[in-house]
Amino acid sequence: MLRDETIRMLKKAGARRVLVQVPEGLKPRARDIAAALEKEGFVPFISVEPCFGACDLIDREAVGMADALLHIGHSDYGLKASVPVVYEEMMFEHDPVPLLSKHLNSLKPYTNIGLISTVQHLPGLAKAKVFLESHGKSALLGKPSRALHPGQVLGCDYSAAKSIEGRVDCFLFIGSGRFHPLGLAMETAKPVLFLDTEAGSLTNLSEEKKTLERLRGAGIAKASQAKAFGILISTKPGQAHPDLAMEAKGRLESLGKKAFILVANQVTPEKLLGLGVEALVNTACPRIREDARAFRMPIISPSDIDYFKE
Ligand code: SF4
Repeated sequence: MLRDETIRMLKKAGARRVLVQVPEGLKPRARDIAAALEKEGFVPFISVEPCFGACDLIDREAVGMADALLHIGHSDYGLKASVPVVYEEMMFEHDPVPLLSKHLNSLKPYTNIGLISTVQHLPGLAKAKVFLESHGKSALLGKPSRALHPGQVLGCDYSAAKSIEGRVDCFLFIGSGRFHPLGLAMETAKPVLFLDTEAGSLTNLSEEKKTLERLRGAGIAKASQAKAFGILISTKPGQAHPDLAMEAKGRLESLGKKAFILVANQVTPEKLLGLGVEALVNTACPRIREDARAFRMPIISPSDIDYFKE
């Protein structure tokens, strides 16, 4: 359940009470994690707050409550913390080769393939690389800047892909969930293929990318008509970008718009009720943009303001 290294690090930190932070998808494992900690003499405190990334460390909440923070399911995001933080990435030992073998024909047009995934599926990338190279392909894993491991992407960091973009014919994302491969498709002109380890399918995301581009274009056009904007800042330590928000405010005001900087930990539609803003500029997690329908108003990124026609 927990790696020996994790236990060793917690002991080295002199921890007795351990605040455990678990992402939503791994919450069913929280009780087993707690049991594993208790067996080693720790007292686990399980945070039940939502957590979507290592950008969202609750180290400040841990101060005075626990001796260390055990952050599950993500890799170190490079944040300085107020208590010792131990990361347990929970990588899956899934072998994608049988699935890849089934879809090998679809990869025929491509010789140089960039392999990409999220932290849980990284062991599968190594296996896929060996398999592809034994079938005459070149398989590359790029070096990320914010993420930790070769080939690893975050929804806010596709630098592992961008670092090899000029050397590959396509990207192959191996894992589950469309958020990351679609996010990559929006960042690159190269085709992105999605090997879905849950559905067992291989999909070229070019058509979905076109749809998303149309939706985003429509959102920017609608936002450009708004008179009052909310600029979102999250207080999650890796998502707080006040300077970016200030810059967006200045640019909107120079276009004759009203702009209010809005601060929340987790930004949800109900927190914005009554503020009278008609569009949002998101400086926090890019996932928020995927929820534009729930917010009932367009959500754009700061760089989209460039597309407003004066
Ligand atoms: S900001 Fe969003 S995409 Fe980036 S690490 Fe955090 S949760 Fe993931």
